[in-house]
Formats: sequence, structure tokens, C-alpha cells
Amino acid sequence: MDFSFSDEQRAFQETIRRFGAEKLAPRYQAREKEGVIDRDLCREMGELGMIAPELPEKFGGMGLDSVTAGIAIEEVARADFNVSYVQLIGSLMGTLIAQHAAEDIAHRVIADICAGRSIVALGLTEPRGGSDAAHLILRARKDGGDFILNGEKTSISLADQADEIVVFTRTNEAEDGARGVSAFLVPLDAEGISTTRFDDLGSGAVGRGSVFFDDVRVPADAMIGPENQGFRVVMQGFDYSRALIGLQCIACAEASIEEAWEYVKEREAFGGPIARFQGVTEPLAEAETLLYAAKLLCYKTLWLRDQGEPHTSEAAMCKWWAPRVAFDAIHNALLVHGHYGYSRELPHQQRLRDVLGLQIGDGTQQIQKMIIAREKIGRIAVPY
Ligand SMILES: Cc1cc2nc3c(=O)[nH]c(=O)nc-3n(C[C@H](O)[C@H](O)[C@H](O)COP(=O)(O)OP(=O)(O)OC[C@H]3O[C@@H](n4cnc5c(N)ncnc54)[C@H](O)[C@@H]3O)c2cc1C
Repeated sequence: MDFSFSDEQRAFQETIRRFGAEKLAPRYQAREKEGVIDRDLCREMGELGMIAPELPEKFGGMGLDSVTAGIAIEEVARADFNVSYVQLIGSLMGTLIAQHAAEDIAHRVIADICAGRSIVALGLTEPRGGSDAAHLILRARKDGGDFILNGEKTSISLADQADEIVVFTRTNEAEDGARGVSAFLVPLDAEGISTTRFDDLGSGAVGRGSVFFDDVRVPADAMIGPENQGFRVVMQGFDYSRALIGLQCIACAEASIEEAWEYVKEREAFGGPIARFQGVTEPLAEAETLLYAAKLLCYKTLWLRDQGEPHTSEAAMCKWWAPRVAFDAIHNALLVHGHYGYSRELPHQQRLRDVLGLQIGDGTQQIQKMIIAREKIGRIAVPY
């Protein structure tokens, strides 16, 4: 058993940590107010190989392993949780496109994702519900060599900032479940598309909203994966994104815990530093333990992926547990800062609001636990 990173991975980690400290962390709170992801910053990250470095070299990626992609997302999220969404969505959508799109589409889109020139959104959730995602109703009707899309996707991260979207549609009306779903890559400036933005609690720089499709015409070769099998395609991708989300949330919490350790050495009460009180250090020590354990689980999951081993259950464990551990850790770090922690001057409140979103996004904890149960005892543990 070897838990160490390679020399190359450590050097990569060091480079990104420095980039994060210099370029990302100082403007984490300012980006929330601006409400956008800075595209020049994305291009700089692209040049440093920080976006989806695991995507195949033949399409413009670096062909590295998933563990290295985990290192990259962890270091960025430590400095700015919201900028790391670009890496998350890059890895999730890039993998889907690399594995299932036509070669010419994969070449164009993946090179742009990795270079930080393009963001591709995930269009799965609909107003009637996200947990039961297979029963989607957005319709793609065949019209000669094209498809015509009508309906609404909602709760889409980066809806009003992304360049393209992979949208999951119903192509077989006779089937109302997963078997009648196909995916299409659609430019978000296509005729008939409009977007909205929600007034969210957190992740203001990312933004979330609805995407409306009103007679949007797409060519048949924009289909990603086989017709009527798009749902299976996206579900495989979540086994990867869930481990990356875990690392995003853990790193964000580690930043707050590090700041809390510094604070307890300086802040004084009852004639000395508050670090002398076990009631102060105990929640921080607990957070250290839980974050450490959750991080190991995430890296183990990525390592399993790199070995080509099944990791559906582990990925679901990462997804339900790490965001919750992270939320609790940040909550404790905020409390340790006393009344200062409650102020918007400090970043803890923003981190708390930001990681909360990923207790829901990419599947709630109830759904993750259902997946773990299904992996353990089979389909008797799922509704259908
Ligand atoms: C920050 C954020 C980012 C997101 N980004 C995207 C994105 O980029 N693209 C995209 O397509 N979607 C995105 N989503 C949507 C997300 O995937 C859905 O919100 C999520 O899957 C839950 O769906 P829902 O909100 O419709 O809740 P519902 O499905 O309506 O569920 C409501 C509640 O009921 C519970 N529940 C439902 N079914 C069961 C069950 N069988 N057993 C036990 N409990 C159950 C759920 O756990 C939840 O607590 C994002 C959401 C958030 C918050």
C-alpha cells in the first residue's frame, strides 16, 4: 500500500498551490460580488494544465491520471471554491465527450475545455425534479437530418456563462424512463435558447439558472453517445465527479480550519490564548480527523478509477459524506472566530454557503445512500 504522491504530482501540487495563493485566494470574495468566472483566469489555468489534465492527449488533454486531476481541483478549491467548478465541469463533461462524442467534436471541444477557452454545462435536471432524473420530459423530435428541442432544464450551473451545454432529452416517447434518453451538445447561443439566473445562497461567481429550449434545431451528429442511451452515459460520469466534488469541499474546509488554528494562537481570553482551552481545540481536532478520512476516501476512489476498478459505491460515499464533513468543519471554524466569524469580512460564511450547494448538486445524500445500498444488495434497494 503506497499513499504517497509521485515527485511529478508533488511538483504539480506545489505549482497550483502557489498559483492559488497568489491569483485566486485574494479575490475569492470579490468574485462572488462580480458574479462571474474570469475567462482570462481560466485561460491562465489552462496554460498551466490545471483544467481536466486527465483527458486524452489525442484530443488536447494531458493524458494524466485522475489522482492528479484530484490534486489540481483540491488546490484550486482551497483558494477559490467557485473557480474549481470550471475544473469539475471540465472533467465531467470532457470525459463524457471524449468517450462518447464523434472524433471531430471531441477534438474541438476538449482542446478548448483544457485550454480554458470553453465551458460546457451539464443539462440534466428539469423543473419536475432532479433526483428522479431519468423521467425527464425535454423533447428532441426528429426532423429530417436534424432534431428539434423543446422544454426546460433548470438548476444548471454556469447556465448564463457556459459556451455549450450537453442536454439530456427524450428521444423515445414510448419510454418514459432512462431507455428513451439521448444527449446532445448544443451551443448556448443557438437560436431559440434563453437563460435565467437564480438568486442563490452561495457560489455567486458560478451562478445557476434555467435554460429554455424553444424549437432549437441541432444536427444529428451533435448527439453524444448512442440514441436512447444518453442516461447511462451521464451516470457513468458521476462516479468520477463525485470524488472530485468531495475534494473540492474538503479543501475549502481545510482553508477555514487552517485559519482557525492561526486565530486560536493569537486571540486571547481569560489572560491567555484561547488555544489553551480544550473546548476550543477539540472541534478543530475533530475536523482535522474527519477531513483527513474523507480526503483519503476521495483519493482512494480516484485511484480505483485509475486502476480501471469499479468505484460507484465509493464515489457515492464521497458525495454524501465529504460535503457534509466540510460544512460542519467550516461551521466550527466560523464559531471559533467568535463575532468576527459572523461578519462578511471573513470568508467562512461564504465557504459555508458555497459548500452547502454541493450537498444537493450532483445528487443529494439520500440518493447517494440509495446507490450504496443498491451496490450492496442489488435493485431491491431502489424504487424501480
Ligand atoms: C449548487 C447546485 C448545482 C447544480 N448544478 C447542476 C447542473 O450543473 N446541472 C444539472 O443538471 N443539475 C444541477 N443541479 C441540480 C441537482 O442535481 C438537483 O438539485 C438534485 O439532483 C436534486 O434534485 P431536486 O433539487 O429536484 O430535488 P428533488 O428530486 O425534488 O428531491 C427533494 C428532496 O427529496 C429527497 N428525495 C427524492 N427522492 C428520494 C428518494 N427516493 N429517497 C429519499 N429521498 C428522496 C431528496 O434527497 C431531496 O432532499 C445543481 C444543484 C445545486 C444545488
